[in-house]
Amino acid sequence: MHDYLIALGSNMPSAEHGTPAANIGAAFAMLRDIGPVIASPIVASAPLGPSRRRYANAAALLESDLSPPELLALLKHIERGFGRRAGGRRWGARVLDLDIVLWRGGAWVSPGLTIPHPAFRQRGFVLGPASAIAPRWRDPISGLSVRQLNARLTAPRRLPSAPPWSGR
Ligand code: AMP
Repeated sequence: MHDYLIALGSNMPSAEHGTPAANIGAAFAMLRDIGPVIASPIVASAPLGPSRRRYANAAALLESDLSPPELLALLKHIERGFGRRAGGRRWGARVLDLDIVLWRGGAWVSPGLTIPHPAFRQRGFVLGPASAIAPRWRDPISGLSVRQLNARLTAPRRLPSAPPWSGR
Protein backbone atom coordinates (compact mmCIF):
# COMPACT_ATOMS: atom_id res chain seq x y z
CA MET A 1 0.00 0.00 0.00
CA HIS A 2 1.62 3.22 -1.08
CA ASP A 3 0.57 6.69 -0.12
CA TYR A 4 2.16 8.99 -2.69
CA LEU A 5 3.11 9.01 -6.34
CA ILE A 6 6.04 11.35 -6.90
CA ALA A 7 7.51 12.59 -10.18
CA LEU A 8 11.25 13.16 -10.44
CA GLY A 9 13.01 15.17 -13.13
CA SER A 10 16.53 16.43 -13.77
CA ASN A 11 17.95 18.30 -16.74
CA MET A 12 21.29 19.41 -15.39
CA PRO A 13 24.37 17.49 -14.34
CA SER A 14 25.55 17.95 -10.77
CA ALA A 15 29.07 18.03 -9.45
CA GLU A 16 28.19 15.52 -6.75
CA HIS A 17 26.32 12.85 -8.71
CA GLY A 18 27.06 13.44 -12.38
CA THR A 19 24.47 12.96 -15.11
CA PRO A 20 20.77 13.78 -14.75
CA ALA A 21 20.05 10.03 -14.53
CA ALA A 22 22.56 9.76 -11.68
CA ASN A 23 20.82 12.68 -9.95
CA ILE A 24 17.54 10.78 -10.16
CA GLY A 25 19.20 7.66 -8.75
CA ALA A 26 20.55 9.67 -5.83
CA ALA A 27 17.10 11.21 -5.26
CA PHE A 28 15.54 7.72 -5.06
CA ALA A 29 18.00 6.94 -2.27
CA MET A 30 16.90 10.06 -0.38
CA LEU A 31 13.23 9.21 -0.79
CA ARG A 32 14.07 5.84 0.80
CA ASP A 33 15.05 7.76 3.94
CA ILE A 34 11.43 8.97 4.13
CA GLY A 35 9.78 5.57 3.65
CA PRO A 36 9.59 2.43 1.49
CA VAL A 37 9.88 3.27 -2.21
CA ILE A 38 9.07 1.53 -5.45
CA ALA A 39 11.11 3.20 -8.18
CA SER A 40 10.20 3.31 -11.87
CA PRO A 41 12.79 2.93 -14.60
CA ILE A 42 14.61 6.18 -15.35
CA VAL A 43 13.68 7.56 -18.75
CA ALA A 44 16.46 9.51 -20.43
CA SER A 45 15.96 11.64 -23.48
CA ALA A 46 18.60 12.61 -26.00
CA PRO A 47 19.61 16.26 -26.21
CA LEU A 48 17.27 18.29 -28.41
CA GLY A 49 18.61 20.42 -31.25
CA PRO A 50 21.90 22.18 -30.62
CA SER A 51 21.46 21.85 -26.85
CA ARG A 52 23.72 19.35 -25.15
CA ARG A 53 21.39 19.09 -22.19
CA ARG A 54 20.05 15.65 -21.36
CA TYR A 55 16.81 15.10 -19.52
CA ALA A 56 16.00 12.31 -17.12
CA ASN A 57 12.61 11.54 -15.58
CA ALA A 58 11.20 8.90 -13.30
CA ALA A 59 8.40 8.23 -10.83
CA ALA A 60 8.32 6.76 -7.35
CA LEU A 61 5.70 5.23 -5.11
CA LEU A 62 6.34 6.26 -1.52
CA GLU A 63 4.84 4.88 1.67
CA SER A 64 4.64 7.59 4.34
CA ASP A 65 2.27 8.84 7.01
CA LEU A 66 3.43 12.41 6.45
CA SER A 67 0.73 14.91 5.50
CA PRO A 68 1.01 16.42 2.00
CA PRO A 69 2.47 19.75 3.25
CA GLU A 70 4.96 17.89 5.46
CA LEU A 71 6.06 15.77 2.53
CA LEU A 72 6.30 18.81 0.22
CA ALA A 73 8.57 20.53 2.75
CA LEU A 74 10.86 17.49 2.75
CA LEU A 75 10.89 17.29 -1.05
CA LYS A 76 11.84 20.98 -1.27
CA HIS A 77 14.61 20.33 1.23
CA ILE A 78 15.94 17.51 -0.96
CA GLU A 79 15.72 19.73 -4.08
CA ARG A 80 17.71 22.44 -2.32
CA GLY A 81 20.33 19.88 -1.39
CA PHE A 82 20.80 19.24 -5.10
CA GLY A 83 21.54 22.89 -5.68
CA ARG A 84 18.29 23.96 -7.23
CA ARG A 85 18.04 27.71 -6.93
CA ALA A 86 14.86 29.24 -5.58
CA GLY A 87 13.39 31.82 -7.94
CA GLY A 88 15.07 30.23 -10.95
CA ARG A 89 13.34 30.43 -14.27
CA ARG A 90 10.21 28.32 -14.25
CA TRP A 91 11.17 26.18 -17.23
CA GLY A 92 14.87 26.65 -16.75
CA ALA A 93 17.54 24.10 -16.10
CA ARG A 94 17.26 22.33 -12.79
CA VAL A 95 19.31 19.76 -11.02
CA LEU A 96 16.31 18.12 -9.42
CA ASP A 97 12.56 18.66 -9.54
CA LEU A 98 10.27 16.66 -7.25
CA ASP A 99 6.49 16.89 -7.58
CA ILE A 100 3.70 15.24 -5.66
CA VAL A 101 1.48 13.79 -8.39
CA LEU A 102 -1.10 11.70 -6.51
CA TRP A 103 -1.93 11.07 -2.87
CA ARG A 104 -3.78 8.08 -1.44
CA GLY A 105 -6.09 10.51 0.39
CA GLY A 106 -7.42 11.91 -2.90
CA ALA A 107 -7.41 15.63 -3.65
CA TRP A 108 -5.63 18.27 -1.58
CA VAL A 109 -5.66 22.03 -2.11
CA SER A 110 -3.83 24.49 0.12
CA PRO A 111 -1.71 27.58 -0.59
CA GLY A 112 1.29 26.39 -2.61
CA LEU A 113 0.14 22.78 -2.94
CA THR A 114 -2.37 21.17 -5.27
CA ILE A 115 -2.82 17.39 -5.52
CA PRO A 116 -3.32 15.84 -8.03
CA HIS A 117 -0.54 17.90 -9.60
CA PRO A 118 -2.41 20.19 -12.03
CA ALA A 119 -0.21 19.42 -15.07
CA PHE A 120 0.42 15.69 -14.75
CA ARG A 121 -2.32 14.56 -17.15
CA GLN A 122 -0.54 16.28 -20.05
CA ARG A 123 2.98 15.11 -19.21
CA GLY A 124 4.20 11.98 -20.94
CA PHE A 125 7.46 12.19 -19.02
CA VAL A 126 5.42 11.75 -15.81
CA LEU A 127 2.77 9.30 -17.05
CA GLY A 128 5.22 7.01 -18.89
CA PRO A 129 7.36 6.16 -15.85
CA ALA A 130 4.29 6.26 -13.56
CA SER A 131 2.45 3.68 -15.64
CA ALA A 132 5.34 1.26 -15.05
CA ILE A 133 4.75 1.28 -11.27
CA ALA A 134 1.17 2.48 -10.69
CA PRO A 135 -0.88 1.75 -13.84
CA ARG A 136 -4.14 1.26 -11.95
CA TRP A 137 -3.98 4.26 -9.62
CA ARG A 138 -6.99 6.42 -10.51
CA ASP A 139 -6.85 10.18 -10.81
CA PRO A 140 -9.62 11.29 -8.40
CA ILE A 141 -10.56 14.21 -10.66
CA SER A 142 -10.95 12.54 -14.08
CA GLY A 143 -11.62 9.02 -12.78
CA LEU A 144 -9.09 7.71 -15.30
CA SER A 145 -6.23 5.40 -14.33
CA VAL A 146 -2.59 6.35 -14.85
CA ARG A 147 -2.47 3.76 -17.65
CA GLN A 148 -5.52 5.29 -19.35
CA LEU A 149 -4.17 8.83 -19.04
CA ASN A 150 -0.88 7.67 -20.53
CA ALA A 151 -2.62 5.82 -23.37
CA ARG A 152 -4.61 8.96 -24.15
CA LEU A 153 -1.36 10.87 -24.61
CA THR A 154 0.44 8.26 -26.67
CA ALA A 155 -2.50 7.04 -28.83
CA PRO A 156 -2.55 8.25 -32.42
CA ARG A 157 -5.00 11.06 -32.95
CA ARG A 158 -8.48 9.98 -34.00
CA LEU A 159 -9.34 10.50 -37.62
CA PRO A 160 -12.20 12.90 -38.26
CA SER A 161 -15.48 10.99 -38.48
CA ALA A 162 -16.11 12.20 -42.04
CA PRO A 163 -13.60 10.76 -44.53
CA PRO A 164 -11.65 13.37 -46.48
CA TRP A 165 -13.28 12.32 -49.77
CA SER A 166 -16.79 12.94 -48.48
CA GLY A 167 -16.57 16.61 -49.38
CA ARG A 168 -17.45 17.75 -45.85
P1 AMP B 1 7.86 24.01 -10.04
O1 AMP B 1 9.01 24.94 -10.01
O2 AMP B 1 7.05 24.09 -11.29
O3 AMP B 1 8.24 22.59 -9.69
O4 AMP B 1 6.89 24.49 -8.89
C1 AMP B 1 7.26 24.35 -7.55
C2 AMP B 1 6.18 24.91 -6.66
O5 AMP B 1 4.90 24.42 -7.01
C3 AMP B 1 6.44 24.51 -5.24
O6 AMP B 1 7.06 25.56 -4.57
C4 AMP B 1 5.08 24.17 -4.67
O7 AMP B 1 4.70 25.11 -3.69
C5 AMP B 1 4.13 24.28 -5.82
N1 AMP B 1 3.28 23.09 -5.94
C6 AMP B 1 1.95 23.10 -6.09
N2 AMP B 1 1.45 21.86 -6.16
C7 AMP B 1 2.51 21.01 -6.09
C8 AMP B 1 2.65 19.59 -6.11
N3 AMP B 1 1.58 18.77 -6.24
N4 AMP B 1 3.89 19.07 -6.01
C9 AMP B 1 4.97 19.89 -5.90
N5 AMP B 1 4.91 21.23 -5.86
C10 AMP B 1 3.68 21.80 -5.95
